Amino acid sequence: MKSKVLIIYTGGTIGMINDTVTGQLRSFDFNLITDHVPELKRLNVDLTSMSFENPIDSSNMNPTNWVTIGKLIEENYTKFDGFVILHGSDTMAYTASALSFMFDGLCKPVIITGSQLPIGTIRTDGKENLITAIEIAASKDENGEPIVQEVAIYFEYHLYRGNRSTKYSASNFEAIKSPNFVELATAGVNIEYHRKLLYRTTASEFSFQATFNKRVGLIKLYPGIDFSIYKSVFDRTKVDGIVLETFGAGNAPKSDVLEELCTRFIGDGGCILNITQCGSGKVNHGMYETSSLFERIGVISGADLTSEAAVTKMMIALGKDSREEVVRIISNSIRGEVTY
Ligand code: ASP
Repeated sequence: MKSKVLIIYTGGTIGMINDTVTGQLRSFDFNLITDHVPELKRLNVDLTSMSFENPIDSSNMNPTNWVTIGKLIEENYTKFDGFVILHGSDTMAYTASALSFMFDGLCKPVIITGSQLPIGTIRTDGKENLITAIEIAASKDENGEPIVQEVAIYFEYHLYRGNRSTKYSASNFEAIKSPNFVELATAGVNIEYHRKLLYRTTASEFSFQATFNKRVGLIKLYPGIDFSIYKSVFDRTKVDGIVLETFGAGNAPKSDVLEELCTRFIGDGGCILNITQCGSGKVNHGMYETSSLFERIGVISGADLTSEAAVTKMMIALGKDSREEVVRIISNSIRGEVTY
């Protein structure tokens, strides 16, 4: 039996061709995908494609679009063996993280891919990315179960856990990396899966949460930072959660203003998550004196979370009603996104 894969085109460079009249790049009609990528006809996969009515540059992605993608997957969950989402690479890691947190009990592959060059250009990286993403979404193990059962990004011969990924290069074909977690698969002559690393849900049923709380702030520290500039981010009438991107293992400059702002924000029921602005490694509260404040006042360590996963996890967690549930989600790994 051929696997059935649903392709959802949201926008981004991969689905663009050169308009022969204007010479500009424009999105093509995705129902005609096999005209542009005839190789797809030779895959032993039953393909269906859908497209956003108005495909978007991924800089315009937002939680409403994440919910649209989530709903399309939910509505089609039982009809397909796997899903491929075509997406601009700029914010792909945010969408991948958000989707991973939205779905509970996911037992099918949701593979997100895109490209640096449009699929209609000669040197495109889009064809390989698309074809291999489809193969992965269609792959079953010896028992007929999907090999990948999580949200992942496929880009330039590597499959990464979605919520561990980050956009790393604006110009290299190898645009995405997973700095703190080994890749899930490598595509060479064969696709080699690192099976022990693949995520498996413990939930018995598939469901998805469509509520995001956008009242989240993100502050990246820098030497000389004047925290009073950021007072409005600590305003509980506007913000429920803050992600702090600190130095090294979670350190911040000594500052009475920071201490007062954080203490009041947490005292008023807000959540603060501390992640490192380093490309890899993790927050370790109390390792240096410059992070002891955070431990003392109840800032939560985000360990090795990426910025993308931290922000989207905050949005999902703060969409819950109970404070205990919010703290439980933020302080634990819920989809293999963090190493505690
Ligand atoms: N700006 C584009 C986007 O993210 C770049 C890409 O497609 O990779 O939508």
